[in-house]
Amino acid sequence: MSNFDVIVIGGGPAGCYAGLIAATKGCKVAIFEEHGAIGWPRHDPGWLMESEFTKSVISSIGKAVPWTKVEEYRVCNSESGDLIEKSTRGGYVVRRDLLEKEIAALAVKAGVRLYLKTRVIKLIRKEGKVAGIETSSDIIPRAKGKIFICADGIRSSGSGFAVKEGLCARGEVKSGISYLLANADVSAGIIEHFLSSDPLLNYRCFFVHRKGLCILGLPSSEAFYELKEREDNIVSRKIKDAYPLEVNGFSRVTSGKYGKYFTNMVRDNIIFVGDASGGAGNIHGMIQGQFAGTVAASAIKDNDTGEERLSEYQDLVFNTLGKAPFFYFSAREDFGSFDDWFHEFEESTKGIEATTLARLR
Ligand SMILES: Cc1cc2nc3c(=O)[nH]c(=O)nc-3n(C[C@H](O)[C@H](O)[C@H](O)COP(=O)(O)OP(=O)(O)OC[C@H]3O[C@@H](n4cnc5c(N)ncnc54)[C@H](O)[C@@H]3O)c2cc1C
Repeated sequence: MSNFDVIVIGGGPAGCYAGLIAATKGCKVAIFEEHGAIGWPRHDPGWLMESEFTKSVISSIGKAVPWTKVEEYRVCNSESGDLIEKSTRGGYVVRRDLLEKEIAALAVKAGVRLYLKTRVIKLIRKEGKVAGIETSSDIIPRAKGKIFICADGIRSSGSGFAVKEGLCARGEVKSGISYLLANADVSAGIIEHFLSSDPLLNYRCFFVHRKGLCILGLPSSEAFYELKEREDNIVSRKIKDAYPLEVNGFSRVTSGKYGKYFTNMVRDNIIFVGDASGGAGNIHGMIQGQFAGTVAASAIKDNDTGEERLSEYQDLVFNTLGKAPFFYFSAREDFGSFDDWFHEFEESTKGIEATTLARLR
């Protein structure tokens, strides 16, 4: 049976980053991903919140991933178009599927074994700890590990390991559709975020990759065509002559609290990162991956993989990201304005950089 120091379940941004860091710190690492590709299906528009970490990711990836700097993040009324607030701390919009592939490629370069089309179906327990995994694959049906980094995403709190390990109650999965639109009335470098008391028009956000090309999330395909027909609001006007180039499903899970971390993110020798820890956000997930990979590697070195030692990871998350989680839907209520939320995130993550990424490229 294959033996690893660190086994990562899920090859999203949080899992790949955790694997990358643990491998560069000398661990024997495997990442298991159930899909046949890293970064695909893409369900997120690729907006990266601004922080020192984000800037260092962008400066490290060079030309491998196209990105656009967000000069202005605008929040407007959906019906009138009136500006409610704007911020110049908008961060970046990237091709997220390519960003994930790039991180995974660097993880492989650092020595990670990456297994696609390999679903982890079971954690094997021995003497109060997890000793290994069982997978859906004939190529590697079982593997042993010392520390398990659970990065199985938003479904973790629906039917995945966060529920199975008792970190949270089973949540209700709500789905939606993410459209990559061509010929929308949008401009490069501007994110427009619309608010309304009409649920169909509320929280409609245009993440712009370049002039005319953007990503918009909606509850259903009916909603897209209904919106296109309406004439009583600005969102409809923006997509009147637009058509989708890609239609991808996505899901949210209510018990994950969508961005608010679980009280416990470590159980025995399992570390939960990214959406699987109740959190959200690509940059938040990658920073969690950096913390998890670092703590896991030092715990392996000291031969101390107990819950207490691994909880150092949880403290790091709460003392930084926990002050400004990616809780998109209540950012204004929680922080007063988007700009204040962006500011708080930058402040609470000051000094955290993606130095390993830069070194590997
Ligand atoms: C509609 C929508 C829009 C969003 N927009 C943004 C945005 O613009 N910017 C931003 O920063 N964040 C955004 N988010 C949040 C962001 O997409 C997530 O926070 C991010 O993807 C979390 O990364 P992750 O690595 O934790 O999980 P995921 O990206 O979900 O990766 C988890 C991976 O684990 C795999 N997996 C699951 N179970 C198993 C298993 N048992 N065995 C093997 N593999 C498994 C999955 O296939 C998946 O590849 C958005 C989310 C949604 C739903």
